[in-house]
Amino acid sequence: MIEANDPNLKTWVEVLDDSDFPIQNLPFGIFTSGDNGSRIGVAIGENVLDLATLNKLGYLSKLDISQSIFESKYLNDLIALGQPVWRALRQRISELLRDSNPELRDNMEDRRLVLLGQSAVQMHMPVKVNDYTDFYSSKEHATNVGTMFRDPDNALLPNWLHIPVGYHGRASSIVISGTDIRRPKGQTIAPDADKPNFGPSRLLDFELEMAFVVGKGNVLGNSVSTKDAEDHIFGMVLFNDWSARDIQKWEYVPLGPFLAKNFASSVSPWIVTLDALQPFKTAGPIQDPEPLPYLKFEGEKNYDINLEVAIKPENGEEKAVCNSNFKYMYWNMAQQLAHHTVNGCNMQIGDMCASGTISGPTPESYGSMLELTWRGSKPIAMPDGSERKFINDGDTVIMRGYAEKNGVRIGFGEVTGKVLPAT
Ligand code: MN
Repeated sequence: MIEANDPNLKTWVEVLDDSDFPIQNLPFGIFTSGDNGSRIGVAIGENVLDLATLNKLGYLSKLDISQSIFESKYLNDLIALGQPVWRALRQRISELLRDSNPELRDNMEDRRLVLLGQSAVQMHMPVKVNDYTDFYSSKEHATNVGTMFRDPDNALLPNWLHIPVGYHGRASSIVISGTDIRRPKGQTIAPDADKPNFGPSRLLDFELEMAFVVGKGNVLGNSVSTKDAEDHIFGMVLFNDWSARDIQKWEYVPLGPFLAKNFASSVSPWIVTLDALQPFKTAGPIQDPEPLPYLKFEGEKNYDINLEVAIKPENGEEKAVCNSNFKYMYWNMAQQLAHHTVNGCNMQIGDMCASGTISGPTPESYGSMLELTWRGSKPIAMPDGSERKFINDGDTVIMRGYAEKNGVRIGFGEVTGKVLPAT
């Protein structure tokens, strides 16, 4: 077991019982406060631990990480130091925050310098994303979409049970939680029309996803096995893959999603390390037919992470519309990474691989409005009396996620995004 995950650990920092950020989590992010430049922070309770100041004060000196790394714009350089270094850093932070350790606990002046309220800082994109891939790994989601758009009797295409299907997305439009999302414009086609129209998307949707951040690259021409894959993953974030369903429907044949997806994807600011998620490993769905040898794996590779999506109208009350779980994924992250690299494709530190929409077996666990309202045929009633088939201008979509076991809750915080009208 990783020592920093011990459920018995307690911290001298105040942490509420339902906090996403107990001492067993310690996720990494990038923040600014006031006029200060970017720094690496770690979430603890309602606070951010400022690693740049902590290192300046000498608390991290044994790790011998240069000060400039803690003052980076992104986590990429820290991640590039390698898994033994991030592990040692998380371990050292865990030691400093333990209630039994007086080093920082009893230095009120230093505590004031290194602990800032999360509400008083600005969070930024945690990594520089060079490349982004979106998988399509929920069998329930692929079945629902196939049923609606193609043929209920052959909802899954013949390749789906053999290949972790994915497409290359766009990295430049991945934005941090809280960034407003402009409703996209594009080509759509009315039912029975023979020519498309141009205008704002009328079927704007979210996709409930999680993404992993690559923590170790592979050389072009080499592959990563399912056995080694988890050593190539730094951690995970919540991921909203905004989707314009009407644009998607017209454009996606034959090469897949393009403008329906690349206008924005939103991510949560804290990267929860795969180390912190170790206690929440669980078995995934049985894979039948048996995958090809390079996709076989040993042990439990899924993670039990509760997920929720809520919609909050402008000036209105939020309503939870979906409750799902990351454990439902048919293809796991190790298989996704093994598949992605099996042809020799080189992954780089900071790359993001999103899971695909995470739909579960029950209607309330579907991870998109497309499925929840069954293409608009079953609208969702909102607390203010209005209804939603898709996402309206002014709506904020909020996704949350946490894992819980043995009294420890490891959370991801939130990813939010408000939809603005098309220009
Ligand atoms: Mn997606």
